[in-house]
Amino acid sequence: MKIAMLARNPNLYSHQRLVEAAGERGHTLDILNTTRCIVNIASHRPTLTYNGETVKGYEAVIPRIGASITNYGLAVLRQFEMGGVWPLNESVAIGRSRDKLRSMQILAKYGLGLPLTAYANDPKQAEEIIRAVNGPPVVIKLLEGTQGIGVVLAETMSSAKSVIEAFRGANVNILVQEFIKEAGGTDIRALVVGGKVVAAMKRTGAADDFRSNLHRGGSAQVIKITPEERSTAVRAAKHMGLNVCGVDMLRSNHGPVIMEVNSSPGLEGIEKATGKDVAGTIVDYILANAKQGKTKTRGK
Ligand code: ADP
Repeated sequence: MKIAMLARNPNLYSHQRLVEAAGERGHTLDILNTTRCIVNIASHRPTLTYNGETVKGYEAVIPRIGASITNYGLAVLRQFEMGGVWPLNESVAIGRSRDKLRSMQILAKYGLGLPLTAYANDPKQAEEIIRAVNGPPVVIKLLEGTQGIGVVLAETMSSAKSVIEAFRGANVNILVQEFIKEAGGTDIRALVVGGKVVAAMKRTGAADDFRSNLHRGGSAQVIKITPEERSTAVRAAKHMGLNVCGVDMLRSNHGPVIMEVNSSPGLEGIEKATGKDVAGTIVDYILANAKQGKTKTRGK
């Protein structure tokens, strides 16, 4: 099978591992630099040009689209979908997962555990929002943030109010959440492939940081998750419409609560912490499921 991967940096661990896993199984995986793909909108058939040539012959595409180029990357992915190429994750599902508020609304609708969360536009309502999530303390998050940047813990009413007012004054969209103190700076990442949790790790933040992101100096260890955590992760993937994703959860007093569903999960932390061949599992899933024209959205 010929597989394309949309990615910007071919040297990243995750990308290298996927290339390796495809090669080990006798298949070709070509990395196309997403930003160098040209989308040909005016032609009769939706095509892409790469390095001066029309992209063709691929049966599957792995989207690894960085948050900073979501719109462009999704346009490229849609072009593949319209041409009938099977995507590991569909463009519509990735688009949904990139919007924190939209994701949480979907997860809440299906009864999945979430921290109490409020969203409001008017900074004058700051106090009301803080009370709505039983704070202070509260966690304030940029809607467009990643890797823990733009996640702030405000412990008092006055600090929470001033952070909300500052963000809203700068016209930045934010979510306000109850602070899950009992999680103790640790979160769980469950990696779901094809409706199953194939690996799970816990991440613990650097000392004095309530954020457990590995990018913020956190460390990762293998963990045995509970049946409830497993089913939360699987249901989250299903309702977000993602074949492959990383579901981040906190252990709260009221059960697992979802932080985020990541449609391009990194493989380095989870493979190293668990010793599992996650890249191989992903490639096997592609080989078993990729069929021409089998996308649900067809790029629409
Ligand atoms: P990002 O998408 O930028 O990684 P997250 O929403 O996942 O942002 O938050 C980053 C980290 O901060 C989480 O992994 C978790 O450790 C911590 N965190 C986020 N929200 C809460 C919360 N409501 N209560 C306790 N800790 C939180």
